Amino acid sequence: MFPRPSVVAMASANPDKVAEISLLMADVVRIVPRPDDVPDVIEDAPTLEGNARLKARAIAEASGLVAMADDTGLEIDHLGGRPGVHTARFAGEHATYADNVAKTLDVLDGVPLDDRTARFRTVAMLRHPNGLELVAHGVVEGVIALEPAGAGGFGYDPIFVPVDGDGQTFAEMDPVAKHDISHRGRAFRLLKDRLLELD
Ligand code: IMP
Repeated sequence: MFPRPSVVAMASANPDKVAEISLLMADVVRIVPRPDDVPDVIEDAPTLEGNARLKARAIAEASGLVAMADDTGLEIDHLGGRPGVHTARFAGEHATYADNVAKTLDVLDGVPLDDRTARFRTVAMLRHPNGLELVAHGVVEGVIALEPAGAGGFGYDPIFVPVDGDGQTFAEMDPVAKHDISHRGRAFRLLKDRLLELD
């Protein structure tokens, strides 16, 4: 049985993600930042869950705390589900968010909106130093816009239009509205439910 933690260590140091996840989880558990003496984890697992596990395990082992990690992929149907596990580096090893957006628009150039269906998928995980895990998945369906719109969010937000929204990209939406329907929001709310079920 996974013991209910009073504090968890974030495996991510990405401030965009830490802010989003803290907003979702801070009322049920105290979150401490990623210890900065842990080297970056090479995310070379073939699945999102495998990469989340690599990050969670490194932080749990280094801190002795329950670690919280997540991994997200964008799956574009026209590309057979790519970039998937390679989403962060779609445009190359050191790609910026803008490079990845540009590459996505480039490879979908001429593809009509109806054929630009895609989804974000997140695997969120809590891992105890003893190896026990709680895992939750979240998905949001959408389409890749014809051009970027909006200045909020991060990553592919300016070109992702969720089907459960009102036609705006994630980058045009208020952060709270984004979390309500987002892949990460859904995964972490499920993870939170699992936490609350623990004794
Ligand atoms: P990570 O596994 O959460 O680091 O996500 C991998 C990549 O997916 C990031 O580098 C971003 O480019 C992209 N990504 C993850 N979450 C989001 C999101 O909520 N909006 C837009 N892009 C995202």
